[in-house]
Amino acid sequence: MTDTLWVAIIGAGPAGYYTAEALTGGDTNVRVDIIDRLPTPYGLIRAGVAPDHQSIKNVSMRYEKTNNRDTVRFVGNLSLGRDITLAELLTLYDAVVLATGAPKDRPLGIEGEELSGVIGSGAFVSWYNAHPDYKDLNPDLNIPAVTVIGNGNVAVDVARVLAKTAKEMESSDLACHAADAIHPAQIKDIYILGRRGPLESSFTPKELGELNRLENAVALLDPEQLPSEATIEAAELTGAAKKNMKIFSSMAENTPDLKPVRVHLQFYRRPMAVLGHDCVCGIRLEKTKVEDGKCIGTGENEVLPTGMVVPCIGYRTTPIQDVPYDERRGHFNNEDGLISDRLYCVGWAKRGPMGTIGTNKPDGKLVAAKILNDVKAMGREGRSGLDTLCAARNLDIVTFRDWKKIEAAEEAAGSDITPRVKFADVNDMLDAAH
Ligand code: NAP
Repeated sequence: MTDTLWVAIIGAGPAGYYTAEALTGGDTNVRVDIIDRLPTPYGLIRAGVAPDHQSIKNVSMRYEKTNNRDTVRFVGNLSLGRDITLAELLTLYDAVVLATGAPKDRPLGIEGEELSGVIGSGAFVSWYNAHPDYKDLNPDLNIPAVTVIGNGNVAVDVARVLAKTAKEMESSDLACHAADAIHPAQIKDIYILGRRGPLESSFTPKELGELNRLENAVALLDPEQLPSEATIEAAELTGAAKKNMKIFSSMAENTPDLKPVRVHLQFYRRPMAVLGHDCVCGIRLEKTKVEDGKCIGTGENEVLPTGMVVPCIGYRTTPIQDVPYDERRGHFNNEDGLISDRLYCVGWAKRGPMGTIGTNKPDGKLVAAKILNDVKAMGREGRSGLDTLCAARNLDIVTFRDWKKIEAAEEAAGSDITPRVKFADVNDMLDAAH
């Protein structure tokens, strides 16, 4: 079929699936292979969305519908760089889309960051979500205090997952190894540190509000850190920010003795150094103030004793050899998704780690439209060429049907309450698949 436009999408997360949906939604003769290095699809839906936010994961049903189109195929357990090169994909397909996300933690860039108890949210969240890369992370949670750095939803997710009881997590798909480490742990204090103030935080009210409804943990905030009525008035807040202010105010009325675990929201503190020799014993912070929205150090330092530091300060896309990369922003260099001739990117690999899952939908549509406009079918081999190459290399490819077997095995291991028990090991996934 020389008039077929063959597109390979690398990364089976939301960005990849929305792009595939848009590419194959019209009557154009487009065929898409969605390639993922893991045997499981859905990227951040599986490994990033918090395990106790099951309703958000329902969006995967939409991706499954896309995958059920004759024109779309999932190719799992095929890794760009390990199994196949970008040059080979560009030979086989008319266009290649990098939807590889931003899985690497942004460094804090401070002394002590290399200590073993400093674990970025990318690693920590992947660990509790059973991502195979982090199944052996084995964080030491036998500590009285954890410090979470950042004032976004990832920080809230991490604090909440650590603070919830086994009973509260019963209806989640928290990785077994994480449940075994988190639930017996005796963490008493969880600090969420913001380098700016409540007005500058990027929590969403739903997520922030959850911290105020935990069974065993109370959210605390120093009333002195709340903005005055006049400041709030002058700030012309969005509806969401107004809701956050109400939640912050109610947290400021809580008292530490209400529940056995305390979640402290502390603003105007920036991390200066992680302290410890072999492992973390504290973090040095500088008190800050905010001027014109900017964080300004006051020169006044304090030490917060803590056994673990989880920076939740954003992510970076993993660079790919020969693909131009914006070092400052941490994603591929691109112009509205175009990297170079027939090579595109989408999602966090295109615009950095921000926005909700839904943000990927318009993003995918835009890049799909660009491809359909820019690229012409050239009689490339596409799918059959990939299959020949995989067979020649003896690669153990996972199809969507295979994935459904993995999914069924995980669900069968669950219960009426627990949606699934996830495999964390690729070999176990492959055993279930075949
Ligand atoms: P985020 O919302 O951008 O928050 C990052 C936080 O890190 C900010 O408070 C930022 O402070 C702080 N930060 C950055 N560099 C820092 C440094 N060197 N020292 C101290 N603090 C630093 O990012 P995120 O929480 O990683 O979330 C990523 C995206 O996923 C967001 O769009 C988020 O809403 C979304 N998400 C959504 C959900 C949900 O809807 N349930 C769950 C998780 C994630 P400044 O503001 O001062 O820079």
